[in-house]
Amino acid sequence: MKVAYWYNNKDIRIQEIPTPKPKSREMLVKVISCGICGSDIVEWYRLPRAPLVQGHEIGAQVVKVGKSVKKYKSGDRVFIAPKVPCMKCYYCQNGHYPQCPEVKVRLPGGFAEYILVPEMLIENGTYLLSDNITYDQSTFIEPLACVVRAQRLAGVKKGQTVLVIGCGMSGLLNIKLAWTRGCKIIAADINKTKLEIAKQMGADITLDAADDIAKRLAEENGRKADIVLLCASADAAVEQAWKCVDKGGVVVLFAVPAPDKKVVVPVNDFWMKEITILTSYYCGPPDIIEAMKFIEWRSVTVDDLITHRLPLIDIAKGFQLVADGRESIKVIIKPND
Ligand SMILES: [Zn+2]
Ligand SMILES: [Zn+2]
Repeated sequence: MKVAYWYNNKDIRIQEIPTPKPKSREMLVKVISCGICGSDIVEWYRLPRAPLVQGHEIGAQVVKVGKSVKKYKSGDRVFIAPKVPCMKCYYCQNGHYPQCPEVKVRLPGGFAEYILVPEMLIENGTYLLSDNITYDQSTFIEPLACVVRAQRLAGVKKGQTVLVIGCGMSGLLNIKLAWTRGCKIIAADINKTKLEIAKQMGADITLDAADDIAKRLAEENGRKADIVLLCASADAAVEQAWKCVDKGGVVVLFAVPAPDKKVVVPVNDFWMKEITILTSYYCGPPDIIEAMKFIEWRSVTVDDLITHRLPLIDIAKGFQLVADGRESIKVIIKPND
């Protein structure tokens, strides 16, 4: 089978390796669709594990199950989480699933024709897709689950003003979810095309991030935002986030600057204004279940985010498109096309 090994964003090598055979507690799935995630192109985050097969946003079909696997059968359509928490440890018991130290197995990457699914992930990380969810839509389950989690932690609710800074894939999903919740949505980006898209996806007001958006926000909205969702990693974007949050509000760091960047937080000002800074990383099983429902019921539509579908052989082009960010929103790799 063909597999794409990622060395860095400019060096991705397609290799032919033997198709794995499932042992009694494993299963083999055929990857029909696998999304390229914004985090896949973040080299400081991914390089420590390189070379690796990336791809954690999958829609797959079960093709072979080991003798002891009873939960799934050949032909089943599934989403599989890239890793699963134990649900028993202190962190899991307190809802901090992404912090579970017991995560020992990861799902092999989806930029491959097939994936051998380990027992742990069959037991706790595999979800049957309803007939209502296509394989392409399945690639949005994980990214939407991360957005569901971030907005839940932030307590996003009806009637609030939500500012989304950065209108790439995660920013747009944040806009769509906040829209279903009945929020007033303001989108900011330096790219005009993205602002146009943000508007189509539910933003009430769009702001050019090259401007002083705190000032523009006050002019357009009358006051600052209850929730600021930072979905861009530029230093300037973080600075803007601090300035745009209203008293008693929340800033969610959905994206962060690289680890070598120093961020200055106006703690004294935030203390007096009772402003909360929240971080949100990855998602947990309840977020995945909720995200699947949003997609299944079409409360959050995702097909309109897909701009490219490429065969595995063109994966380098896919990474370029996502890294460049100007022409693409969601790029899906179809390893078996
Ligand atoms: Zn992702
Ligand atoms: Zn745990």
